Amino acid sequence: MTLQERVEAVRANIAAAAREAGREAGEITLVAATKVQTSETIRQAIAAGITVCGENRVQEMTAHLADNAYEGAALHFIGHLQTNKVKFVVGRVDLIESVGSLHLLEAIQAQAAKAGVVQDILLEVNVGGEESKSGVAVSELPELVERSLQLDHVRLRGLMAIPPAAREPGENRPFFAQMHQLFVDIKGNIDDNKAVLDCLSMGMSGDYMDAVREGATLVRVGTALFGPRPPMGTPR
Ligand SMILES: *Cc1c(COP(=O)(O)O)cnc(C)c1O
Repeated sequence: MTLQERVEAVRANIAAAAREAGREAGEITLVAATKVQTSETIRQAIAAGITVCGENRVQEMTAHLADNAYEGAALHFIGHLQTNKVKFVVGRVDLIESVGSLHLLEAIQAQAAKAGVVQDILLEVNVGGEESKSGVAVSELPELVERSLQLDHVRLRGLMAIPPAAREPGENRPFFAQMHQLFVDIKGNIDDNKAVLDCLSMGMSGDYMDAVREGATLVRVGTALFGPRPPMGTPR
């Protein structure tokens, strides 16, 4: 299959899952997870209809930005972000999806204030409660939401999650349902004048249809669009 065909196949799957859940396909945005891809492949993906690219690594993203690789698409940062790299991301991306600590939130606010911008963000929730994963614990989420709403250079847009790696199809669906419930609860508690929460980012190549069935508005898909990646640390 060509990249164009894979983009169309993923979109068709998103539409089918949306229909099953009584949703409109247009409520869901496909984010192409472009880590390890070349600038040329990113351009091809955009030519094939991709409207949002999601990047994990600051260094790769900076190189692609210098190449104008993302031209014609929006850009999201979806990876683990160290506070010392915040200056390379704030104001350069449309949305930082992976804000998983108070420390990072405050660093983004400080950098955005310095740059004179308002940075859109999602709070990343460690929904599986895994030691190894970044993201805020479910129990600490309300505090981070409240702090986000106080900061004048960040705009909270919603939530993001990376559930544990599933061994069986369907295994993560309860996590997606839990995320949707958290999203609805938080929305219910926020005055619409203070923030409009319109983003729930969850689902990757193996489980994006379940995520759509449970209410995702953004799905982040890499492998199903670009094929398997080399294992981490493999020289390219
Ligand atoms: C790589 C990545 C994805 C996409 O993963 P695939 O399984 O290749 O679809 C989604 N979200 C994040 C945060 C990623 O790092």
